[in-house]
Amino acid sequence: MKIAVAKEQDPAEPRVAATPDTVKKLKALGAEVAVEPGAGVKSGLPDSDFTAAGATVAADALKDADVVLKVKRPEAPELAGYKRGALVLAIMDPYGNEAALKSMADAGITAFAMELMPRITRAQVMDVLSSQANLAGYRAVIDGAEQFGRVFPMMMTAAGTVPAAKVFIMGVGVAGLQAIATARRLGAIVTATDVRPATKEQVESLGAKFLAVEDEEFKNAQTAGGYAKEMSKEYQAKQAALTAEHIKKQDIVITTALIPGRPAPRLVTAEMVKSMKPGSVLVDLAVERGGNVEGAQPGQVVEIGGVKIVGYTNVAGRVAASASALYARNLLSFFETMVNKEKALAVNWDDELVKATALTRDGAVVHPNFQPKSA
Ligand code: NAD
Repeated sequence: MKIAVAKEQDPAEPRVAATPDTVKKLKALGAEVAVEPGAGVKSGLPDSDFTAAGATVAADALKDADVVLKVKRPEAPELAGYKRGALVLAIMDPYGNEAALKSMADAGITAFAMELMPRITRAQVMDVLSSQANLAGYRAVIDGAEQFGRVFPMMMTAAGTVPAAKVFIMGVGVAGLQAIATARRLGAIVTATDVRPATKEQVESLGAKFLAVEDEEFKNAQTAGGYAKEMSKEYQAKQAALTAEHIKKQDIVITTALIPGRPAPRLVTAEMVKSMKPGSVLVDLAVERGGNVEGAQPGQVVEIGGVKIVGYTNVAGRVAASASALYARNLLSFFETMVNKEKALAVNWDDELVKATALTRDGAVVHPNFQPKSA
């Protein structure tokens, strides 16, 4: 059983899919592990750390690998280097990327999309959305603080008192909860909003104040799967009116609102940005999915009327060493389910985790959600 740890081809991707710690555990499962040179460097993991853990470092690591561990989906040019039939575990970003799925099917690889892992108790250790969103929520606060010309905590000094910063978190999923906790630890006065009623108690338990239009629609805004529904135009208008008044008084606004399979909801209009004091900062964690903030640009910090809008992408990658450590553990946990007692590769195709994540197999796109249109 040969496992390869790929070096990411995207120069903007600093994470790596294994660490010396997970290499040791993969070896204990009976695998030979080969790492592409430099795969971990941007996460602070030199090749020598991998060899010390028992891996080999080889430029042709992928060539005869039965399993490839990766962060991002392999693209058409890279796929030429993969063995047909290889299992590839990565974040595949399948929605709207049918051509990329076809390339993977044509290359004969068996691709597993880690982000499609069901959010059930057994799979919590494999949940890459949570492990990465948690870090992104933390880093969003740090990025906001870096752009902010003031401090977060109230400071009473001999030279005078500086007030605590007011931080508003919009969207209280995994990222938003960590953003609340981080901003509180830094001493800010924190408020937060979400359309799911269950979040009210979570916000309050973290010592922040909850703000939302709590009408009948709000009471039913959570799907059975725990996600948000897309809200009606009427609700959005009421929500915007409430938010508009609140935002004017905030120093930092961090937005994290997403709806699965839909563009991110627009929560902050250009008008609202204009209403904020110069020196205020918005951080839009949803910028890659269309953005919660009007005017946010992917990968940029834009300034409008003295207000900065931070639109960094791959925010978990901005704490690459931590992100890689957690991501690698997520992959290891999923891979463990694919190895039998005889230490051989034995994928159980009836396992709900496998069914939910397998995108391609035997030259075809097999996932029901991504069948070619003509099929
Ligand atoms: P997400 O990334 O899909 O969305 C982020 C947040 O944005 C959500 O809280 C959502 O309600 C909110 N949102 C959407 N539209 C909004 C709007 N118009 N205004 C304000 N907020 C809006 O969410 P997530 O972080 O993936 O978490 C979603 C759910 O999954 C949560 O209930 C979470 O607790 C749950 N979860 C469960 C598990 C598990 O059981 N294994 C693991 C992780 C998360």
